[in-house]
Amino acid sequence: MAGGRNTVWHRGYITKQDRNRLNMHDSGIVWFTGLSASGKSTIAHLMEKKLFEEKVRACVFDGDNIRHGLNVNLGFSDGDRKENIRRIVEVAKLFVEAGVVVLAAFITPFREQREYIKNQFKGMKYLEVYVKCDLEECIRRDPKGLYEKAKLGVIKNYTGISSPFEEPANPDLILDTNLLSIDESVAKALEYLKVTDFLKLLLQQDMPL
Ligand code: ADP
Repeated sequence: MAGGRNTVWHRGYITKQDRNRLNMHDSGIVWFTGLSASGKSTIAHLMEKKLFEEKVRACVFDGDNIRHGLNVNLGFSDGDRKENIRRIVEVAKLFVEAGVVVLAAFITPFREQREYIKNQFKGMKYLEVYVKCDLEECIRRDPKGLYEKAKLGVIKNYTGISSPFEEPANPDLILDTNLLSIDESVAKALEYLKVTDFLKLLLQQDMPL
């Protein structure tokens, strides 16, 4: 906690609630978990597009993209994996405070990890979406050729091949991409956001500032 010492959080004049009113929708985090190639990024990016078209400020946080920038200096040791998630969570919190719906697409294979993440977003809207797909089907899709490399041992500790994926015990929503088309998954997730009031303020177009 080196940076936390001798610093005091500065409270601004404008709160998350103010920004949500300005945007006319609530902000929060949708965390997609699932095997590589299960469809997390594909679904998250299409949701982002649909939400944008409905004037909802949404933004995808994607595993690979984050490792190209913010977390470019992190590897795949246990310590670095923890730090990877910690940074993603902290940045996501800032985005939620700024009024954005964050669509986070990360394998997050361990229960303990997902428990940590959920706890970090206490007091904010949070949904865990399990993008479920058989390993065999993920290996068949293999859009980036990573399963092939993992099977050959070129990539170590690859989820599903040489590292476990612990199934979520109690996700808020399951999208089974063995059964659902991409469009069906996107529609199901968007419907869920609406029926659970995740985007409640969207309907209150006349809410005064
Ligand atoms: P992840 O983010 O989980 O690693 P991606 O979204 O990057 O997965 O890749 C999933 C791949 O599987 C994409 O190439 C997508 O077009 C393909 N795909 C085929 N069928 C489906 C489906 N029913 N749902 C989601 N993705 C599918």
